[in-house]
Amino acid sequence: HRGLMAGKRGLIMGLANDKSIAWGIAKALGREGADLAFSYQGEALKKRVDPLAAQLGSTMVLPCDVGDEASVDGLFDALAETWGSLDFIVHAIGFSDKEQLRGRYADTTRDNFLLTMDISVYSFTAVARRAAAMMPAGGTMLTLTYYGAERVMPHYNVMGVAKAALEASVRYLAEDFGKEDIRVNAISAGPIKTLAASGIGDFRYIMKWNELNSPLRRNVTQDDVGNSALYLLSPLSSGVTGEVHHVDSGYHVVGMKAVDAPDI
Ligand code: NAD
Repeated sequence: HRGLMAGKRGLIMGLANDKSIAWGIAKALGREGADLAFSYQGEALKKRVDPLAAQLGSTMVLPCDVGDEASVDGLFDALAETWGSLDFIVHAIGFSDKEQLRGRYADTTRDNFLLTMDISVYSFTAVARRAAAMMPAGGTMLTLTYYGAERVMPHYNVMGVAKAALEASVRYLAEDFGKEDIRVNAISAGPIKTLAASGIGDFRYIMKWNELNSPLRRNVTQDDVGNSALYLLSPLSSGVTGEVHHVDSGYHVVGMKAVDAPDI
């Protein structure tokens, strides 16, 4: 296979179904010749992930709950046994109690704060350390974040606080692994209708607002994110690390939108 990712092996974490951002990324990587392994959380998701993996010629579908150290170790033991080394990883995982993705941030409970930080932030660090140990020839890592890390967005609440910490961890990991020629970046994606997003209050309104107010005047697709991920995971971005790259139709640059119609 010829392609940007030919001969490269990578792990995709966070594929739940064909609406997942991880699927857009996996398709772009598969198209460019990458060999892919997938991890899924819980037996119920395996039957969804198996056929998607098969579509991209992958039979490596492995369980991993990132909230459980032994489960993360199990995943990397299995990868070390079958592949030995890795070239890239994609972390497309986040979680918070959806009852707290509405209403006030101020009402976040300690338990949900810690759970959200554990699954949505620490998991990337836990996975990155194990993946780096399998990248003797260098590699690339990518996680997914959202504008709610930088600015207050409706209902994003504790997830915004977690994404801010995730973005900071991208910078620290970039420094830790840079001398091993391992690059670490994030994509800040605009709103996309996925399973995780459906837990956020007023998500349809948020999508409509982004569509009307972004410079491109449309929402981004899984494939928009997939193609940018391909750039960040491939040698095309060889000089880029510690970066949070916005794939959001330009929404993050707008202070106030001009009136499209001549009279208000
Ligand atoms: P999704 O529901 O398809 O994916 C979320 C994934 O997280 C699922 O596969 C789920 O199994 C996994 N997960 C949750 N808890 C886990 C655990 N303990 N162990 C292992 N896996 C676990 O939704 P998505 O929107 O594709 O989310 C992927 C990433 O993109 C998330 O980090 C999300 O915050 C981020 N993101 C999403 C949007 C959006 O609008 N959809 C925008 C910006 C960023």
